Amino acid sequence: KKIVIAIDGYSACGKSSTAKGVASVLGYTYIDSGAMYRAVTLYFDRNHVSITNTQEVKKALENIDITFIVNDKTGLNETYLNGLNVEDEIRKMYISKQVSQVSMIKEVRVEMVSQQQKLGKKKGVVMDGRDIGTVVFPDAELKLFMDADIYVRAGRRQQELLDKGQMIGLEEIMENLKERDRIDTTRKESPLVKAEDATIVDTTFRTLEEQIEEVVNLALS
Ligand code: C5P
Repeated sequence: KKIVIAIDGYSACGKSSTAKGVASVLGYTYIDSGAMYRAVTLYFDRNHVSITNTQEVKKALENIDITFIVNDKTGLNETYLNGLNVEDEIRKMYISKQVSQVSMIKEVRVEMVSQQQKLGKKKGVVMDGRDIGTVVFPDAELKLFMDADIYVRAGRRQQELLDKGQMIGLEEIMENLKERDRIDTTRKESPLVKAEDATIVDTTFRTLEEQIEEVVNLALS
C-alpha cells in the first residue's frame, strides 16, 4: 500500500537528498516544498514585491505558477516558475538569504500549503519541508524529523554548492543555516516543530545510503 512520507527538520540536514533516494527506491513521487517557497522568493525578488505590503503579496501570488517537471536525463523533478526552469537559480545564496522572511508571510503559506496538499492527493509521495508532518499532511503514515550537527550540515551544503560551481565560505553558509533555523522555528505561522508522532533521524554520522535505507525500512515496516 502506498503511503505519504513527511520529512521535516532543520536546514541542510539531508532531507531532500534522503527524500529523493527514498522516492526512487519505492517508486514514489518526491516533492520539495522548500523549492516552492524559494520560487516565490525568486518571483518577489525579480518583481520587487514588498513583503510588508499585503496587497502586493496577494497580487503577486495570483501571478505565480509553480510546477514540477521531471528531467528526462536525471529522472528528477525540477522546479518551474511561470513556465521557466528555475531549479538552479532558486538554490543560489541570494535566495537562501531571503527565503525565510518570505516564508513567514501568512498569505504565502496558505497558498503553498493548499498547492502541496493537492500534489499529495494521490499517495506514494515523499515531501520534505518544515511543516509537512504538522500542517500539510498531519495524517501522513510516516513522519520523520531530521537533525544533524551544524558543522556537518554546513560542510555538506558547501560541497553541494561547489558541485554547482558556487564557491561560498563555510562561515557564510553556517550563518545562513542558523539564521533560517532561527526564523523558521520562531515565526508565528506554523513554526518548525517536531510532530509528536515523528521519528527523529540524526544524520551526523550517517552516509546518505544509510539514511535512505533506514527510511525505506521504516516505510515498509
Ligand atoms: O528546504 P529548503 O531549505 O530549501 O527551504 C528553504 C526555506 O523555505 C526554509 O528555510 C523555510 O524558511 C522555508 N520553508 C518553509 N516551509 C516548508 C519548506 C520550506 O517555511 N514546508
